[in-house]
Amino acid sequence: MENLKIVQGDITKLTIGAIVNAANKSLLGGLGVDGAIHRAAGPKLLAECRQLHGCETGQAKITNGYQLPAKYVIHTVGPIYSGSNQDDKLLRNCYLNSLNLAKSRGLHSIAFPAISTGAYGFPASRAAHIAFAAVKNWLEQNADYQMKIIMCAFDSKTAQLYRQELAE
Ligand code: ADP
Repeated sequence: MENLKIVQGDITKLTIGAIVNAANKSLLGGLGVDGAIHRAAGPKLLAECRQLHGCETGQAKITNGYQLPAKYVIHTVGPIYSGSNQDDKLLRNCYLNSLNLAKSRGLHSIAFPAISTGAYGFPASRAAHIAFAAVKNWLEQNADYQMKIIMCAFDSKTAQLYRQELAE
């Protein structure tokens, strides 16, 4: 799939239409990739996030990127892993709703971190499988729309899992 690529590194460095933030329901910042995005974007990001009044798990909201090289940030809230089938569905919704929001804003490129696989405890391999199934399905369903998707792996273990999923 030429529109689906893997990058290993810091998502805040990507020059792209939108980067996705693995946020929490408050949208007021946190640890991990959320903290890195807020630090790199600067305080105006938090000011805009305050106007959004939070976000439900599996849903997505968009802000400007401010000092980031990315034009926009799409904030989505991954499930806190509990082991139920509902987690899988909610994680899938994060990817699909982020892509639908990007498309609705006319964006043509988007980068995702490995949502829920840090503090939220989702097993990395299961999350990688759900993530790739979701984005591949979205690309098939939206074949008439040009969208470049980057799956950003922060660590080499996630990058390896992603290469396996991309090959399938
Ligand atoms: P969650 O709360 O959804 O689990 P985390 O930020 O704790 O979110 O972790 C999600 C993933 O983001 C983890 O795989 C973590 O390694 C990765 N990550 C952390 N910092 C960055 C970054 N700067 N760029 C890309 N990915 C990152």
